[in-house]
Amino acid sequence: MRSIQEIAEDAHHCASSHEPDVRLIGNVKASEIKRLALTASEVGVENFLQELRDKSRQRSIEWNGHDDKSPEEILYRSNELGGESGEVQNAVKKYIRHLRGMKGAVDEETSLNDIGEEIADVIICCERLARLFEIDLEDVVRDKFNKTSDKYGLNTKFEE
Ligand SMILES: [Mg+2]
Repeated sequence: MRSIQEIAEDAHHCASSHEPDVRLIGNVKASEIKRLALTASEVGVENFLQELRDKSRQRSIEWNGHDDKSPEEILYRSNELGGESGEVQNAVKKYIRHLRGMKGAVDEETSLNDIGEEIADVIICCERLARLFEIDLEDVVRDKFNKTSDKYGLNTKFEE
């Protein structure tokens, strides 16, 4: 059986070529491979979010001794998200300092690493906050993405 990676590579080749969509790869239509690769990619993202949800729940219990949904916990987590968002902005500020050659700048590699880490913290916090309200992160992100596309008349949307 072919791996998802192999299917994705074929699909990428099809997408980036001007060959007709009816081309066969093995005995499967290129268009079908593209569809399967897109589906596999979406499943991958959902598996990642599910794993993040499970790990975050497990770590909350390890770290705090609970994974409760008290008002204090909700306030704590929303405050945490605000703090982490500010850390992203601060990391970007330092990157701009680097671009401007200002004092207080860090080197580009460190700066980009810091931005990545802080964005990761924001995603971790968003997952935690969504879980507190029993909000399905995948669903709300898809719905909101599509809503924004509709609002501005854009065609790029998740499949509904
Ligand atoms: Mg942080």
